[in-house]
Amino acid sequence: MRDEYDLIVVGGGPAGYVAALRAAQLGASVVLAERDVLGGTCLNRGCIPTKSYLQTAEAIQSAREWASRGLILDSPPRLDMKKALACKNQAVRRLTAGVKALLESRKVDIVRGNAVLVGSGRVEVEGSGILRAPSVILAGGSVSTRLPIPGADSPRVLLSEDILALDRVPGSLVVIGGGVIGVEIAQILSAFGSVVTIVELENRLLPTMEEDLSKAMAAALKKRGIIVHLGVSVRSIDDSGAGLALLLSDGTRVEAELALLSVGRRPDLSCLGDSGVAVERGCVVVDDFMATSLPGVFAPGDLNGRRMLAHAAFEMGEAAAHSALGHPRRAELDLVPSVVYGSPEAASVGLTEAEARTRCENVSIGLFPFAANGRALCSGDSEGFVKVLVDPRFGELLGVHIVGACASELINEAAILMRMEVTAFEIAEVAHAHPTRSEAFMEAVAAALGRCVHLPARG
Ligand code: NAD
Repeated sequence: MRDEYDLIVVGGGPAGYVAALRAAQLGASVVLAERDVLGGTCLNRGCIPTKSYLQTAEAIQSAREWASRGLILDSPPRLDMKKALACKNQAVRRLTAGVKALLESRKVDIVRGNAVLVGSGRVEVEGSGILRAPSVILAGGSVSTRLPIPGADSPRVLLSEDILALDRVPGSLVVIGGGVIGVEIAQILSAFGSVVTIVELENRLLPTMEEDLSKAMAAALKKRGIIVHLGVSVRSIDDSGAGLALLLSDGTRVEAELALLSVGRRPDLSCLGDSGVAVERGCVVVDDFMATSLPGVFAPGDLNGRRMLAHAAFEMGEAAAHSALGHPRRAELDLVPSVVYGSPEAASVGLTEAEARTRCENVSIGLFPFAANGRALCSGDSEGFVKVLVDPRFGELLGVHIVGACASELINEAAILMRMEVTAFEIAEVAHAHPTRSEAFMEAVAAALGRCVHLPARG
């Protein structure tokens, strides 16, 4: 360890470790302070663990359909939760070790301990003293929001990080908050055998996404036996010792062994100390270059609340590294896709239909159902559709919304083409391999232009 570096990074999650790697690549001497395991929420308690469990959930679900494909399974699959947990933990360990190896390969010093900004260019790390550098990147991430509901402090009311560490499947679970985390974990535990109920305050699941995606997701979850209560909140939670009884705002009573509180996350401001970095509505104020109100201090990732997504944090971390080293770079967040994983998946990029209608006089909508896609049909998961929004004047692609299997992969083609400003007219003419699910995107674009040949003529 040195006394002074070119850059101090606080936090080893997606924003922090990418910022450190990029800065080191740009030739800077970098030290990264982390109080926990490298990788942050995404690798340890979020995106990665849920993907391991979703794979297991998908295997259970598809095994149920094997008989119709002629595969003989003598008994229904049973889940060994301890093994599923070990498998998930192994994936997490491999990836966090990978982050450490990447940092080491680029000669980034890693300091363990809680780090706090104590002044311009000075960060105090518990147990290690003061680090000094002309620039500091604060990437302290976020924490789960708790609600002041009477009874919500019961040990049976878990946060997502607690539920991902369980080594047994609860008999029943009530999910409070039908956002991204709620929908993903509801699907996992339902497939694992829990009776799952979702309670959502708004009148639709995934309220920030395209409305049609919310409807399709609600229908898919109900089909899988998940109970959904919309437009209600939880008045109180009563822990009888043997389980929970939740009283909802419409008077309904829901009983469950455990509850998950997934009502959003808020920035973890603990790394700011008394430094005076400007904060508004609980989020660190940054400009597009990730600069805070204090010169030489930058704050990418969940800390600024702009887009609480790991891949948005990667983008913000890179921008912060360039900006901190005197090569200002904007974080491009307009065309960052958002994805809800599961079976089906939901994915969006660009404007929703409601937003597009406020921006453009006319919006052409192209909708292509996976039921009309050969690959999806043969795979047995033809649920869902691709919906594209096009400005008919110049063929600008305004937004793409997908629900169905592989939506998380398909959305990236749309994001790239939108970023490159490729028009709908051009996309509709690009041959896509057949049979693939990607064809559904091209067909939806063609449908928006009124030239899709694989949909029946209208009228
Ligand atoms: P969220 O904001 O996605 O969803 C919270 C939900 O809780 C909303 O639908 C909201 O209406 C509802 N809610 C709020 N108060 C409520 C109440 N009193 N009763 C019932 N419902 C209530 O937040 P999240 O799902 O907790 O996720 C946190 C963050 O993590 C988000 O920013 C999300 O984008 C990110 N994340 C992303 C992914 C992904 O990209 N796949 C996965 C997990 C988490």
